[in-house]
Amino acid sequence: MLTLQEIAEAVHATNDWQTYGEVQVTGVEFDTRRIQPGSLFVPLQGTRDGHDFIGQAFAAGAVLTLTSRPLTGDYPHLLVPDTLLALQQLSTYYLQKVNPKVVAITGSNGKTTTKDMTASVLGTRYRTYHTQGNYNNHIGVPYTILHMAADTEMLVLEMGMDHKGEISVLSRIAQPDVAAITMIGESHIEHLGSRAGIAEAKMEITDGLKSDGLLVVPGNEPLLTPLVAACSQQVITFGGSQDVYRSRVLSEDKEQTAFAVPELSPKTYVIPVLGSYNVNNALIALIIGQHFGVTEADIYQGLVAFKLTKNRTEWLTAANGAAILSDVYNANPTAMRLVLDTFSDLETSGRKLAVLGDMLDLGELTQPLHESIADHLQPDKIDKVYLFGTHMAYLAERINGAFPPGAVAYFPETGKEQLIAALRQDLQPTDTVFLKASNGMGLNAVVAALIQD
Ligand code: ATP
Ligand code: MG
Repeated sequence: MLTLQEIAEAVHATNDWQTYGEVQVTGVEFDTRRIQPGSLFVPLQGTRDGHDFIGQAFAAGAVLTLTSRPLTGDYPHLLVPDTLLALQQLSTYYLQKVNPKVVAITGSNGKTTTKDMTASVLGTRYRTYHTQGNYNNHIGVPYTILHMAADTEMLVLEMGMDHKGEISVLSRIAQPDVAAITMIGESHIEHLGSRAGIAEAKMEITDGLKSDGLLVVPGNEPLLTPLVAACSQQVITFGGSQDVYRSRVLSEDKEQTAFAVPELSPKTYVIPVLGSYNVNNALIALIIGQHFGVTEADIYQGLVAFKLTKNRTEWLTAANGAAILSDVYNANPTAMRLVLDTFSDLETSGRKLAVLGDMLDLGELTQPLHESIADHLQPDKIDKVYLFGTHMAYLAERINGAFPPGAVAYFPETGKEQLIAALRQDLQPTDTVFLKASNGMGLNAVVAALIQD
């Protein structure tokens, strides 16, 4: 709940807002479909200009709008040079007012998972709010801040990026007490040049880290070591051979993974997700829980009960009864390799089929990174491989000789219907089929076709 005066001062409004009388703002939205009575509307420039929707926002219940254009009509408004900057300034003001402890999480993969695990652990003891879904950019982070309740004690923020400099802005807005990097992969390498460039961009998460704050990073990533050495804040590393926070995976199945941190405790921890890569994410949540004094029992509870706000790997059932492991909204080489390893090691009674589509945005590394997946496709572990898309031709070329004749099928990007037809014909009720590609490849349509029959 913010007053007109608080908002106007936070965004440095330049018009005569004092003439509006009492305006009580109860929420902030940039999408008119989410406007509630009492909302402040923030028109942003997307594919369309949000300023075109100001009338609609007021019709839906908005009581105030930001604007960077003089307005016709009778709408209470605050004139600012840049509405996005104003949204960020307002979030900074509100963050200082509520003053929770802030945890910021970045990394090439595992941000959402780690954020949800950390919020679940902290939520056992503190009033905790966290990024909903994947709202992790220059709009999503201020939006998340503005949506926390006024009595929030812990705020857990996911921070994502495509380009250098973006995490720095987010970190300086959020001023975290704890910053964590999950891992350095290859996503967005097209914009960042190299994995070293990616490591530097992720380290921007320390740009706003409080001087008495804590940085949590992988201990087995040489690219981070020199950068971390230059960091004046407290650092805890995990996963490295010398680290206390080093895990041993005890068991893995479709629905859950059990692990221990032998140097730390005799306890067995359980997370309700597939994939040993998620154990690293859980270690971060554990470290942050301990840092804020959450008990071991509550950390256990937080991890075992955590819920992903946006599930990436999802178990579904095909119309004929086959099991589908769907991971079709995102793909980069690291995640592709890890999930394929997990899938390869799964115990199933029937055949295993992998349907892999192009990984996008890899720039000039597109060919070698697609070829690098070959080492994670073993003919003794995976029965059939369907490859789909222009770049997957590189992988097809690589693995063709290794698999028995007919076990590898390739479909160009224009062949999605043929891919669906071939899968329908081939799929047995006892099969388990894994699908993964960049979202842009539209493999979700293939999953939908298998479910509907
Ligand atoms: P995005 O950049 O799309 O927001 P994200 O970083 O939030 O992604 P998640 O949604 O948590 O990542 O996980 C996406 C996928 O990344 C998972 O399905 C899995 O394949 C892979 N992944 C998750 N955690 C890790 C990890 N610690 N290391 C490597 N890969 C991981
Ligand atoms: Mg995410």
